[in-house]
Amino acid sequence: MKKINTCNDNIFALSTPVGGAIAVIRASGSGVLPVLREIFSGRIEHRQLNYGKITDRIEPDGGQGEERKENDTGALAVLDEAMAVYFRAPHSYTGEDMFELNLHGSYSVVSAVSRALTRRGMRLAEAGEFTKRAFLNGKMDLVQADAVMDLINAETRRGASAALEQLEGGLSMRIGAIEEKLLDFASELAAAMDYPEEMEDEVLSATPEVLNSAISRIRDLIDNGNCNKIIREGAKLAILGRPNVGKSSLLNALMNAERAIVTNIAGTTRDVLEEKIDLLGLPVRIADTAGIHETGDAVEKIGIERALHEAASAECVLLLFDGSAGITQEDERLVQKVFGMNCRNIIFVINKCDLPDCGTAAEKLKNIAPENGGSISRISCRTGFGLEELKHRIAEAVGLSEGRAIVTNERHIECLSAACAELCEAAELFSKGGNAAEMLLPQTELVAESVGNALHCLGEISGREVSEELLDRIFERFCVGK
Ligand code: GDP
Repeated sequence: MKKINTCNDNIFALSTPVGGAIAVIRASGSGVLPVLREIFSGRIEHRQLNYGKITDRIEPDGGQGEERKENDTGALAVLDEAMAVYFRAPHSYTGEDMFELNLHGSYSVVSAVSRALTRRGMRLAEAGEFTKRAFLNGKMDLVQADAVMDLINAETRRGASAALEQLEGGLSMRIGAIEEKLLDFASELAAAMDYPEEMEDEVLSATPEVLNSAISRIRDLIDNGNCNKIIREGAKLAILGRPNVGKSSLLNALMNAERAIVTNIAGTTRDVLEEKIDLLGLPVRIADTAGIHETGDAVEKIGIERALHEAASAECVLLLFDGSAGITQEDERLVQKVFGMNCRNIIFVINKCDLPDCGTAAEKLKNIAPENGGSISRISCRTGFGLEELKHRIAEAVGLSEGRAIVTNERHIECLSAACAELCEAAELFSKGGNAAEMLLPQTELVAESVGNALHCLGEISGREVSEELLDRIFERFCVGK
C-alpha cells in the first residue's frame, strides 16, 4: 500500500455556480488565517459570519496575476463588500483552518478576489480536494466522503436521504460491526494457529456461525444495494393495456404534465415513450407503451413487442383496464400473457371509474386472475380519483420503503461482493474439514487467509485500507469546491 501524503498548501475554490447573485469562495490550509486578516476588514471570529470589505493592493502597472512583491506599495482597492466566516482547525469541514467568503456573484469580483488569494500563495483546489482533506484529516471515512458527492447528485428525496444516512455514518457503522466481529475472529484464529497443539475447539466450532453471520449481513447490504440502481436510474414502471384504456392519460396524470400524445383514435401510441418522474421521492421511469391488441399493422406489431419487452424488465407493471367498457376477451388474453411472462409486481388498475360499471370489471378481474390476490386499484385519470393511492402502491411494490439502509455506491457494492466471495470460500474450506475437531492446520491457514482478504475488501470501503490510486479515483468524480 502506498503511503498517502497529506498536503500542507493553502487551497481555495469557488463553490457556487458562476453567474448567481452570491458567490462563495472557500479556502483551507494552515496558512489561510493570515491571508484572511490581510484582505478582509471585518471581525474574524470562529464560526461567525461577519461583514467587511475585501481589499487588495493593485500594482501601479495593473500587473494582474503577477507574483506580489515584498513591500508592495500599490494602491489599496476595495474589491467587494462581503461576509466572511472563519473556522478554526480542527472544527472545520476539512479539519484545517478554513474561511468562506460570500461575495457578490459577478465574474469581475470573483476573479479579482481569486487573484488576491493567488498572489498570497494560495492555489486553486482540485476536484474533491476539500473532501479528500477531510478524509485524510480523519473528519470522515470514505463511505461518508462518497456520500457527499451522492448527496450533491441526488435527484430525488429518497436518493438524498440514502446519501444522508451514509453521511451521518449509518452504513459505516453497519460495516464496522461486521469488521469488528471478523477482526476478533481472525485474531483468535491466528492464536490457534500459533499453538496448533492447543488449537482451541471453541474457536473452530464457532467458525461456521461467525462466517455465516458475516455472509448474511453482507448479502443483506448487497441486496439493498440493488436499490441503488433504482435510486440512481429510476425504477422502471410499464403501463400495459389495450388501446384507449387510458395509458397515455395515466402517464400524463402521474407526470402532471401533458407530454405524451393523448387522443381517442385507437392505436396512436405506437412506440415506447419513457419519462422519468419523482414519485413520492422515488425516481420512476415510466414507459407508456403501445396499446396491446391483435393487429395486422407491422409498425404497431413492433410497438406491441417492445411494450411486452418493457414489461418483462420492469420493476412494476400496471395492467390498465377501461372500467366503463368492462373486461373484454382481449383484456383476458393480455392478463394471461403478462402472467405467463413472469412479470414482477403486477398491479391491476381499472381506469375511468368516473363512469358507471367499474364494479363489474373488478369482479370479473378477480375471477380471471385469482393469483393476483384480488389486488386492484381503481382510478380515474379524468378526475384524479385513486391516483395518490396508486402512487403509494407503486412505491411499495418497488420495495423502497423508508428507513432501509441502502448502499448507493457502485464501489461499495464491488467491495462487499468481493468480501462476500472470500467469506464463502472460507466457509467452504471449513466445511471440507468435516467437523471442528478434524480441522487441520493448513486448512485453518487458508480460512484465515480468506478472512484476511475479506477484511481488506471491507477496509477499502471505509478507507481503513486504501491506496493513493484508489483515493484519486474516488475524488476525481467530485466537483471543484467540494
Ligand atoms: P391509450 O390509448 O390507452 O393511451 O388511451 P388514452 O390515454 O389516449 O385515452 C383514451 C381516451 O380515454 C381519451 O379520450 C381519454 O380522454 C379518455 N380517458 C382516459 N382516462 C379517462 C378517465 O379516467 N375517464 C374518462 N371518462 N375518460 C378517460
